[in-house]
Amino acid sequence: MKILVLVTSRRISWHNGTGRSSCPLKHGPAGKEEQLMKALVIEAPGSIEIREVVDPEIKKEDDVLIRVTACGICGTDIHIFGGLKSARYPVVPGHEFCGVVEVVGKRAAEKLKEGDRVVVDPNLSCFQCEACREGRINHCTNGMINQGVNLDGGFAEFARVNVKQCYRISRDMPEDVAVLGEPLSCVLHGLDKAEVFPSERVVVFGGGPIGVLIYKCLHTIMGVSDICIVEISQERINAARAAGVESISDTIPQGEADVVFEACGSVEAFESGIRMLAPSGRLVQFGVPVEDAIGRVPLYEIYRKEISIVGSFVNPFTMKRSVELLLVYQDLFSGIAVTRLSLEEAKSVIRGEMATSGFLKAVVSF
Ligand SMILES: [Zn+2]
Ligand SMILES: [Zn+2]
Repeated sequence: MKILVLVTSRRISWHNGTGRSSCPLKHGPAGKEEQLMKALVIEAPGSIEIREVVDPEIKKEDDVLIRVTACGICGTDIHIFGGLKSARYPVVPGHEFCGVVEVVGKRAAEKLKEGDRVVVDPNLSCFQCEACREGRINHCTNGMINQGVNLDGGFAEFARVNVKQCYRISRDMPEDVAVLGEPLSCVLHGLDKAEVFPSERVVVFGGGPIGVLIYKCLHTIMGVSDICIVEISQERINAARAAGVESISDTIPQGEADVVFEACGSVEAFESGIRMLAPSGRLVQFGVPVEDAIGRVPLYEIYRKEISIVGSFVNPFTMKRSVELLLVYQDLFSGIAVTRLSLEEAKSVIRGEMATSGFLKAVVSF
């Protein structure tokens, strides 16, 4: 009954003109009225369009319909456009989003209600396969959902998610902070894997939003004082400085590093990073390389110095911590996702037609 009431209220608010911008109704196959929404759709590798698509609806009791308020553009969206084996086509990209709960399924209503503001974890594992039961939920072998990659994501006015993917946030958390929930959760997983001590020397390759998040977590929250970012783009350096990064340069620092974060997906950065590691050093491959990228490693150095190379993939069990940190350190994380783009501009960025080096994280607001 509750679901019906909520659906009705949504439709009433729409017909009263207090809902979204012009949204035509069309008749579906069963003669049922369907509402259309604007969405960015990657039809196939190399093909992206803004389309009017049918609104997602509540299908299961755990479902939540989110009115997306902001969705960040990520390198992964560009990889999907370029052609990604793990992606489904066509797909609505966008995995870094937050919004307002519009409709809740029966069981989801036990945890969320209409009007709640939430950050979405785009990843949902089965929690039943062997990998999941061993705690490696990011290696789920049973149809793990990566919303925005293999299921429709956040570059649309509405998105359907599972209630387990929703993290409630306060009404006053700024949008540019809330939208960092997913990228920060991924960074936290990478930091967990690196096990950095405050006295260690850290070098981060890549001064994009991920590099800046790694820097801020280590420098300000974890008290690592000897840390710098290496970034080749002067515009990116300026953007990172404007976001509060003090130590960033276009040259690789002299001397050894205890921990290197590769946060740009570059073979050159990976190889430079390995070469500068101190004994017992760790390199975290965080940036997403192209699928066939091959980096050379100095085998003797790895043996003699006991060097570790670790990957970091998505955000197992780190989303809650991410949202809590965003709440506590709102000032620290503001200033990163401040660039606002239209859906049309997001399309240009994903097509590679619009330069992104002048800003850190660009966000589409709905
Ligand atoms: Zn991302
Ligand atoms: Zn699983």
